[in-house]
Amino acid sequence: MANPLYDTLFAAHAGRLDAFLILPDGSEISYQSFLQMTARFAHVLTCAGLNPGDRVAVQIQKSPQALAVYAACAQAGLIFLPLNTAYTVDELTYFLENSGARLMVCDGASQGALAPIATGLGATLETLNGDGSGSLSDKAEGQPDSFDTVDRSGDDLAAFLYTSGTTGRSKGAMLTQDNLLSNARTLTDHWRFTADDVLLHALPIFHTHGLFVATNITLTAGGSMIFLPKFDADQVIALLPRATAMMGVPTFYTRLLDDARLTRELTARMRLFISGSAPLLAETHVSFESRTGHRILERYGMTETNMNTSNPYDGERRAGTVGFPLPGVELKVTDPETGKTLPDGEVGQIEVRGPNVFKGYWQMPEKTAAELREDGFFITGDLGRVDEDGYVHIVGRNKDLIISGGYNIYPKEIELLLDDQPGVLESAVIGVPHPDFGETVLGILVPEKGAAPDTDAILAAARDSLARFKHPRELILLDELPRNTMGKVQKNILRDTYKSRFM
Ligand code: ATP
Ligand code: MG
Repeated sequence: MANPLYDTLFAAHAGRLDAFLILPDGSEISYQSFLQMTARFAHVLTCAGLNPGDRVAVQIQKSPQALAVYAACAQAGLIFLPLNTAYTVDELTYFLENSGARLMVCDGASQGALAPIATGLGATLETLNGDGSGSLSDKAEGQPDSFDTVDRSGDDLAAFLYTSGTTGRSKGAMLTQDNLLSNARTLTDHWRFTADDVLLHALPIFHTHGLFVATNITLTAGGSMIFLPKFDADQVIALLPRATAMMGVPTFYTRLLDDARLTRELTARMRLFISGSAPLLAETHVSFESRTGHRILERYGMTETNMNTSNPYDGERRAGTVGFPLPGVELKVTDPETGKTLPDGEVGQIEVRGPNVFKGYWQMPEKTAAELREDGFFITGDLGRVDEDGYVHIVGRNKDLIISGGYNIYPKEIELLLDDQPGVLESAVIGVPHPDFGETVLGILVPEKGAAPDTDAILAAARDSLARFKHPRELILLDELPRNTMGKVQKNILRDTYKSRFM
């Protein structure tokens, strides 16, 4: 009788009366009461006729109850399928249809719109609201506080996690119990998490960062989480003194830096700040250290693999890099045309292999075959290089590569130069159609607060230091870059906006 995921993350803490979750109002939920809530939900799920291997799709606000649905799926051997709360009803239809979910849990507010769709697809619909109320909780009331954990093996699927859809339609990544557990164990160890840690959790729990990285690590270590519904600078600043660690997307850090209350004293008890999901500007890294004395630890991962690389815990956390492959993860940089491994220092596509790598995309055999090699290496879609000290640098996504007049141009190289110009906060470089060159380089600049960067002077600076084919044809000023909920710059939107600029 075993269920490695449930046994390791949840059952291991049975009977513990100390806090698992600390809520914004200061109240606490002990491990024991969390596990009892989990058991009650597991009964509801099985009473609904769900069998091991069935998918449970959820689009619900972040709450302790929402997290208990994840735990209940693990305990009942069901496949947990969390969805971005920003998705519209139309978008949800795709996920419901694509995943074949038998049960969908949604917020009460979207029940009316979703009911006909769920019925049409033969799925049951239940509700769970941000305050924990809803039909799922109503049904859980009076259910037993314990549940006979369903047997599963490490090879069984534990979750379908849809990718963020930054480069195209979201794909459902099939993740096994072992995929999740191996990575949680590695990261717990690598980042030295223990039962004494208190993680400030302000990330969404429908994405790998907040769900599998943050939550699974806390559970593996047996620590606790300050569980905030979302990132709110006032709330985060008020609660940082109670925490020992925080995980965030780069925008968390830039927003904290915008606040004068972020000081060395405020973060005195913290031992670790981690960043990921999008590139952290080297400038943010440097400013954060000078303000707080902490060097942010940047790591790199994705839905399909959980985490692949990390800067070291001890040793140099190098700004602008994502560190070294994690123990047990192999990483190589290959030529996109031939698939051959390139020598260190050369830019190519990043491939990874390890126990963390997913089983394939749900119902997309062709895409799976194209990206997951038979020998187990996954072609990540990111371009990068390994420097002379072994640090991995992400140069950008394969799909963002610009090909102008037959030359390959890596946007990152130009962005780094633009970011350094006076008055520039950040930049995005994209390729847009051009009648002579196929594509040409367009630079989008976001000015620093109150600044008015001199675009002519910046173009001149680019001409001085970059080969001619890399010169931006034009620079455009924008107040901010389009980003999704995980803080990722949506270059597809920029490309679409400016597609006719030179045509
Ligand atoms: P889709 O695959 O649907 O286009 P997505 O790749 O954005 O969406 P995720 O799996 O959420 O979906 O994101 C993984 C990607 O995020 C990585 O492939 C990489 O491009 C980017 N990423 C994650 N961490 C970092 C980091 N530290 N630095 C740079 N990029 C990062
Ligand atoms: Mg991706």
